[in-house]
Amino acid sequence: MRVSVFGLGYVGCVSAACLADMGHEVVGVDVNRVKVDLVNDGRAPVVEERIGELVAEVVGTGALRATGDVREAIADSEVSLVCVGTPSEPNGSLCTTYLERVTEQIGAALADRRGRSGRHTVVFRSTMLPGTCLDLLVPILEKHVGGTAGVDVGVAVNPEFLREGTSVRDFFDPPKTVIGELDPASGDVVAALYDGLPGEVFRVPVPTAEAIKYADNAFHGLKIGFANELGAVCRALGVDSHQVMDVFLADRKLNISPAYLRPGFAFGGSCLPKDLRSLVHAARRADVSVPILAHVLPSNSDHLQRAVELVERTGRRRVGLFGLSFKPGTDDLRESPLVELAERLFGKGYDLRIHDANVSLSRLIGANREYIETRLPHLAQLLADSVDEVLEHAEVCLVGTRDPAVLSALPHGGDPMIIDLVRLPDAEARRAEPGYVGLAW
Ligand code: NAD
Repeated sequence: MRVSVFGLGYVGCVSAACLADMGHEVVGVDVNRVKVDLVNDGRAPVVEERIGELVAEVVGTGALRATGDVREAIADSEVSLVCVGTPSEPNGSLCTTYLERVTEQIGAALADRRGRSGRHTVVFRSTMLPGTCLDLLVPILEKHVGGTAGVDVGVAVNPEFLREGTSVRDFFDPPKTVIGELDPASGDVVAALYDGLPGEVFRVPVPTAEAIKYADNAFHGLKIGFANELGAVCRALGVDSHQVMDVFLADRKLNISPAYLRPGFAFGGSCLPKDLRSLVHAARRADVSVPILAHVLPSNSDHLQRAVELVERTGRRRVGLFGLSFKPGTDDLRESPLVELAERLFGKGYDLRIHDANVSLSRLIGANREYIETRLPHLAQLLADSVDEVLEHAEVCLVGTRDPAVLSALPHGGDPMIIDLVRLPDAEARRAEPGYVGLAW
């Protein structure tokens, strides 16, 4: 199929490259010229496992190209995938500005395309609250197209379940495919797009598809909060929480997936926090009491504070931090709990150095370079290119990554002290050593 993908961020870039790899003819569209140029150069605008090679390959074969011109992209395609961002507003509600704008642009381009054979289908992949598609976006589309959605233009919602860091793998082996269809023909288009991928396909009404994504992300946050709170209690009581969880999770009769249930560091990223915030905000507006969901983010913040307190308890001032992106394998800094940790320590006047192989100023490109330069200039100056630079500086090191280069360089014996945020692979042995503290015990 001929596909246009709107938004070349984490979701759009991975979707575009993987769809091109599956044999579709894909054009990526972004308002950010840097991302368009990078893709056309055969380079990925995001850091992700395998994405660099994949973009180079599919751009090389001509299966993927990028443009800033919406009309040109739409004129040539049967289906549009909308992957623009839906961040939080300051009050926690969902920001739909980018969705509205891109829908206007697609609608206007479709109006120009009128008369061409074949119906165009607009598929929303961005995460949005139930009702957003039918109540907000479909009217915009219908106004421009001058027709009826589900008749003159296809509309579907197809939430994305990728996890940053393993998103290419997740694309080709999805946990499920959810198709919210306005009409069966729209659903057929989405199903055809992913034909050949494993996993069950669920065809549901549009608002149900929107809600499923929130069910997923709220539950992931809840699981992490549960595991971390349990881990903190176990630690206080002198119990190895990972041993507790190993046995707890072995109980398959209760059918618990172990994902997100290993005590570790706080969660973050561009999805879980903002999706929990907008869900809780929407519940409040609807006068629905959701005390469990409302406390997942405060619980997460308390967990982060535990790491700060561990540093304070050492009495040392020169601190090293390994890891800064919100999880390993990505350069994504948005709402990273390690950024928050660094900022709390920075605010308390600790002498900090940070190393993350994916967040080095000499390697960062595009949006993330801009992000760090504009939003985190105070941390940018603390970034070290090498692991050794941090080790030489630090009296105490916080380890928030399992990067093999960091693991192999970490000393034993307490100089510097190690505060383990991720349960290092050799945590068991280190536990008996002086100067080692595990947050996740
Ligand atoms: P992102 O911020 O990395 O990328 C969004 C891109 O859209 C940016 O490159 C931006 O320039 C572009 N854009 C904005 N307006 C545009 C327009 N009018 N035309 C073309 N491009 C435009 O966002 P992301 O992390 O890829 O997330 C996208 C959506 O997918 C969000 O709703 C998010 O909640 C959801 N989601 C994200 C993940 C994830 O792991 N990042 C996973 C599942 C779902």
